[in-house]
Amino acid sequence: MRVFVTGGAGYVGSHCVKHLVAHGHEVVVYDNLVYGHRAAVPGNVRFVKGDLGDAPTLRAALTTGPFDAVMHFAAFAYVGESVTEPLKYYRNNVANTLGLLEAMHVVGVRRLVFSSTCATYGVPDRVPITEFTTQNPINPYGRSKLMVEWMLQDSARAWGLGACALRYFNASGAAADGSIGEDHKPETHLIPIVLQVALGQRPHVGVFGTDYDTPDGTCVRDYIHVDDLASAHRLAIEAIRPGEARFYNVGTGKGNSVKEVIDAAARVTGRTIPSDPNPRRPGDPPVLVADGDKIRRELGWQPAYTDIEQTIASAWRWHEAHPNGYEA
Ligand code: UDP
Repeated sequence: MRVFVTGGAGYVGSHCVKHLVAHGHEVVVYDNLVYGHRAAVPGNVRFVKGDLGDAPTLRAALTTGPFDAVMHFAAFAYVGESVTEPLKYYRNNVANTLGLLEAMHVVGVRRLVFSSTCATYGVPDRVPITEFTTQNPINPYGRSKLMVEWMLQDSARAWGLGACALRYFNASGAAADGSIGEDHKPETHLIPIVLQVALGQRPHVGVFGTDYDTPDGTCVRDYIHVDDLASAHRLAIEAIRPGEARFYNVGTGKGNSVKEVIDAAARVTGRTIPSDPNPRRPGDPPVLVADGDKIRRELGWQPAYTDIEQTIASAWRWHEAHPNGYEA
């Protein structure tokens, strides 16, 4: 297939691009490089620097196809920032996705895989979370992603869009060959922060909340390897049918606490990782773990990484070799 990938220079997007190319798909990346990295996109992949909000550039790029499908990663994803600057999130994540859907409609591209999130569930009424769990997001980031899910459903009904929204749990890890990995500035995610402590770039990691109603008092998350997200995207794009909107959780089904992640990282790196108890971070649900049965059953997806040490080891290879990320 010929696939148009928005946000293909970002963390999850770049791993998906690498995976699609390895499976024989032809890819064009569209990215404004605000958070993405040009070096994360393979040299033999066509790259268009453009913003999703720039309708003429987007349309021009989309008409260079014909494209069989769009994978849409481009979005802002800082939960805390979404609370203080909600309109920035509604503009970029909702309005710009609306622009993308309009462009797809006009140009005649009928397949879309969309990066959704477990943040659309908010504080779930039960775990593990199935696709039937009530979606009740508690921050503008989660709400912006849920609004797009609604647009996909309506577009499937109205003009035959075939869409698949993948609700990621905690994306983590790096490509097995160490060529690409996670590089956010600022970095807010647990595993990269813990590995920066292991590298001596930070003195310690703050543990956001040690009094949760969980086995060790710290938050539990489902850390899904970014290459497993990539294979989910490929299977989704191959399964999509016009006029149908599908929704899948993508997680391992296994939860690890913040403390378990820190201990696993100490074992993987062989370094001491000092940690400090900090107050709870606003908006953090205590436990988020996927019931990933639906995507396994319907798409035949299987995660290759099911052990947190394996996932952290892949991230460590990247961070150790690239302590400053994509910067030389
Ligand atoms: N976390 C932490 N210290 C940090 C960063 C994160 O204790 O410096 C916790 C956070 O409260 C959450 C878990 O680690 O329970 C994963 O957070 P992350 O930001 O990586 O992903 P999120 O769950 O917000 O998508």
